[in-house]
Amino acid sequence: MFAERIDFSHEASLTIDELIKRAEVLLPETDVSILRRCYDFADKHHSGIKRSSGEPYIIHPLNVAATLIKLKMDLDSIMAGLLHDVVEDCDVSPEEISKLFGQPVAQIVVGCTKISKIKFKTKEESQAENFRKMVVAMAQDLRVIIVKLSDRMHNMRTLQYVSKEKQAVKAQETLDIYVPLASRLGINSVKGDLEDLCLRYLHPDIYYRLAEKIAMKKRERESYINETLALIEEKMLEYSVTGEVTGRPKHFYSIYKKMQQRGVDFDQIQDLLAFRVLISNITECYKVLGIIHSAFTPVPGRFKDYIAIPKVNNYQSLHTTVIGPKAERIEIQIRTFEMHEVAERGVAAHWKYKDRNKGPEANKLKWVEELMEFNQNVSSSSEFMDVVKNDLDVGGVFIFTPTGDVKELRYGATPLDFAYAVHTEVGNKTVGAKINGKLVPLKYRLKSGDTVEILTSKTQTPSKDWLKICKTSRAITKIKQYLQKVEREEHRTQGEEILEKALKKFETSIKALDKKQEFKPLLEKYHYKTVEEIFVNLGSGHLPLKEILVNIPSIAVTEEDEIEVPVEEDDSYHKRLQKTARKSSSNDNAVIVDGLDDIQVKMGRCCNPIPGDPIAGIITRGRGITVHTVGCSRISDIEKGRQVNVDWNKNYNFSHPVNIKVTTHDKPGILSKISKSINNAGINIRSAIARSMPDQKGNFIFEIEVKDYSELLKTISSIEQMEEVISVNRA
Ligand code: MN
Repeated sequence: MFAERIDFSHEASLTIDELIKRAEVLLPETDVSILRRCYDFADKHHSGIKRSSGEPYIIHPLNVAATLIKLKMDLDSIMAGLLHDVVEDCDVSPEEISKLFGQPVAQIVVGCTKISKIKFKTKEESQAENFRKMVVAMAQDLRVIIVKLSDRMHNMRTLQYVSKEKQAVKAQETLDIYVPLASRLGINSVKGDLEDLCLRYLHPDIYYRLAEKIAMKKRERESYINETLALIEEKMLEYSVTGEVTGRPKHFYSIYKKMQQRGVDFDQIQDLLAFRVLISNITECYKVLGIIHSAFTPVPGRFKDYIAIPKVNNYQSLHTTVIGPKAERIEIQIRTFEMHEVAERGVAAHWKYKDRNKGPEANKLKWVEELMEFNQNVSSSSEFMDVVKNDLDVGGVFIFTPTGDVKELRYGATPLDFAYAVHTEVGNKTVGAKINGKLVPLKYRLKSGDTVEILTSKTQTPSKDWLKICKTSRAITKIKQYLQKVEREEHRTQGEEILEKALKKFETSIKALDKKQEFKPLLEKYHYKTVEEIFVNLGSGHLPLKEILVNIPSIAVTEEDEIEVPVEEDDSYHKRLQKTARKSSSNDNAVIVDGLDDIQVKMGRCCNPIPGDPIAGIITRGRGITVHTVGCSRISDIEKGRQVNVDWNKNYNFSHPVNIKVTTHDKPGILSKISKSINNAGINIRSAIARSMPDQKGNFIFEIEVKDYSELLKTISSIEQMEEVISVNRA
């Protein structure tokens, strides 16, 4: 058996009998005879219509259905493949399809039709809008996109029959939209073929030059491939490992991309050949890797272990580049048969075993769901597009959690992105981050291999500035959601107050009117679901007070009446202030102790907490409460019963002394340089101790005064930026 890549070529003489035969092989337990009814129905409606190639139209849906069988999709998808154009092209109603072939099939066809109606324009904004719609379609049923990809595959396969202009438009659209989608869904077989087809129509000169060069050396190359294959198999046999070994030229597009990236010519590109070893289990994958590395010299820096750390689209494989038998570089991929299924079919490979709660499938849907959530939270399509494009970029950095788990985030991601990737609550409460044990600013760019520890505080809340720091759609969505919730709540209370005040003049109240269902006409008119929505829209200024009053039946206000809008007066503001004041009983306490007033609070000298540090309190015998950082060894030594919850008092605004230790290269004038930098940031230095070490290093301890943790972080990072500085730590 030869596990080659899936062949998507156009089959001009494909018949429904042949298609049904293939479906029976794929789905042996299922009655697939309904496919003939789908075919007859589609054929009847497309009859007399010809494709640009001159072939009867029905050959197109037949080929689309064949592709879906090759991707091992379910019966509904194959049926939808046969029917995918009848709503769009033949004005068949979705209801009719639903009646004849079931609701799920109708829904997939409708989804495909919606995507087809998207008009692509050159303007970035409209293209983004289209992409947005595709994601919406995909969220409803992932199968819509897989049918659509199969449709696009066949259209690209037969693109030679349409006009030059249309070729360029379709190819660009495919490269911009369909290729990234196929990649993100892990359907690499479709992705690779689509890319090569795009290259053929977008850069025909390059495509044909590559084709020519590869064809010229065809015989030579084939014998070289066979020789190498035999060599690999022989070596494997020596260690009694058996598997399938295949070799082939790489995809043109990947060669083209490499030429562009390295800025080199075709002649300088060396590794044109790719070999693949498929074996039965993971242990043997690493064994084969060892065999290959001992038989051929590996090229340093080219080994990648996607088995231990899969790509975000769940791709798994070992990749290595070695110097082949004729001193030519060859790329070798090693993976199990199962991994190969996933590599070729991606999300489609899991179709039959679909379980929404488990496995890679769940991740994929989660990804789509996150995009959907984001979709609801952005106002402009280009903003959406930016984020989507970033998310579709499969490459990224691998980050370790303190417990050794690995997360992949996109390039440029920050500790804050990481915090949101761990959990929304962790993200919302983030006050700082340690990379490999060292404090860094939140906007630090994560690098592969970093171990990230997130520091949180109960009192922390997300701010608008965080949107500038975060790079992942998940983090941005969650921050926006939080900010919107806060804003909505403000508008709601404002709106409610304004309305209540206005109603007093009519000697009624919100409660009384609500009881009599007096808000009903207004709710209906604006499609609001609750009275709260009236408050929110009034508070935010979207709904004028007069409009509300006009629509309350028992209040005889007309459009012509003058309405005086009650100004939000100071008393409500004062009430709010009083509330917060009561919450934090005394403003000269830096720390609020849960449920306890007027208690003596001291800061632990061992760890010297400053506002923003995660803290806990310990009840000390007869001396009130001592506050320590959560990480302080004192906390872990004390039994839980003596611990109390404490929190920083947000109204407290005094400076705290804290020590920082700076290690530098020993250069003259360094002390004054550091001092100047601290002072320039508006930070007071209480004392400084300098010591020069025998190893040409300088050691300084500065006692500085900061308001809180973030000010400390800022100071540390500004010192870190100095050339002579080796490290800065809180001491
Ligand atoms: Mn079609």
